[in-house]
Amino acid sequence: MNSELDVPGIENADIVPRDSHTISRKDISPNALKVLYRLLKAGYQAYIVGGGVRDLLLGKKPKDFDIATNAKPAEIKVLFNNARVIGRRFRIVHIRFGKEIIEVTTFRADHHPISEITENLTFKEDRERDSVHSEEGMILRDNVYGNIDEDAKRRDFTVNALYYTTDGFRLLDFNRGLQDLKSRKIRIIGDPKERYKEDPVRMLRAIRFSAKLGFSIEENTKKPIDELAYLLDSISSARLFDETIKLMTGGYAVKTFAMLREFQLGTFLFSPTLEALSEADNSSTKLVELALEKTDQRLNENKSVTPSFLFAALLWPVFKMHLAESKNLGLAPQLAFEKSAQFAINEQLGYTAIPRRFTLATKEIWLLQSKLASRSKKSMETVFCNSRFRAAYDFLLLREESGEELKGLGQWWTKFQESNEPERKKLILSRSKKKKRFASKRKSSNHNHPGN
Ligand code: ATP
Ligand code: MG
Repeated sequence: MNSELDVPGIENADIVPRDSHTISRKDISPNALKVLYRLLKAGYQAYIVGGGVRDLLLGKKPKDFDIATNAKPAEIKVLFNNARVIGRRFRIVHIRFGKEIIEVTTFRADHHPISEITENLTFKEDRERDSVHSEEGMILRDNVYGNIDEDAKRRDFTVNALYYTTDGFRLLDFNRGLQDLKSRKIRIIGDPKERYKEDPVRMLRAIRFSAKLGFSIEENTKKPIDELAYLLDSISSARLFDETIKLMTGGYAVKTFAMLREFQLGTFLFSPTLEALSEADNSSTKLVELALEKTDQRLNENKSVTPSFLFAALLWPVFKMHLAESKNLGLAPQLAFEKSAQFAINEQLGYTAIPRRFTLATKEIWLLQSKLASRSKKSMETVFCNSRFRAAYDFLLLREESGEELKGLGQWWTKFQESNEPERKKLILSRSKKKKRFASKRKSSNHNHPGN
């Protein structure tokens, strides 16, 4: 085990001893402890860092536990047979224990200052230290290793850079993170502009943590966001999809969405939705609001939410807009549906790379809306057996609740599900009969129409 004096960089930390902080081993995932113990036993430094420490100090249950160590990825891999090195931009080690993944990162150090980047190069590459910058100062590869003090400076916000180890049970604070935790502030470490230029996703993370923790964003951390928001354009749509999911499934989607709009960051993730909403009817706006509210509600009740349902709701106003246009162009209903669904999804794919399995499910939720409204006996029976019936039914209720005029369709399906087999048969019969009666009435009235 390491004694305090052996740890380079530790002299710059405020050290909080065991009896002066509230973190206890019993609140830490046993798997994270296992990783910590094994690294320490092998002679490395190892700390829980990030959300794990922050949330424990706030009395919240951490979402996951991240570990920082001075062991290099290859050295970590030797110690665990369930370890995988992943990522190129930011190499980390995933240690898997069933469903739980413990993320282990090697201490990072600073790169060359941005001023050193020569103007006539598109990017500067330091192969030796595996560091690559873009012309704008964005870090394209971040695998320069260092000591704990350097690592603390490379983290995003002060409250995310608190370290806890079972080696002495002490808490280390290099950036006055504990003070910010107390005054409930999200403060970026270092020069805000430079840090956002290195990684523009930090602007989204500031919003995410502020909404989730109910912390304010410190003034200097907030100020450059407006001016630098455009940098999010250079982030890959795959990474933006991951961030969007984190933003929307943290249990604070309503607040996060509002903040993203307030900080002009929403357009880099949800431009098609925001544009459609600016022209949409009240029910579309309401549907998006309700979907976010219900997402938060479900997560707070420990229920699952799926990206496909979330995007079905967020893109519903976009889909409806295209559908109206296609109908105006006189396209056949099936073709109009197909094209509008594809347009809406393709537009969103330009911002966030939603994996295909989710876009297929989103389309199916939309397609099932017309099947749920069908009066054909066969359609009613098959839609109920569809594996996405539940999602489609929930979506139908959402549409109804947001004010779309669906003539009690949601209620009918609620009753249908609550009924037994013979009652269901009767319900189907009466609904399909209604159609026939309606159709024959129309026929006869058309027949009597003077124009015929
Ligand atoms: P969550 O509760 O969402 O897991 P977290 O703070 O643990 O929050 P992670 O995305 O799991 O966030 O990252 C773990 C830690 O890694 C962060 O707390 C932060 O110290 C560091 N980190 C993550 N992303 C960045 C980034 N883009 N720039 C700098 N540091 C980062
Ligand atoms: Mg985390």
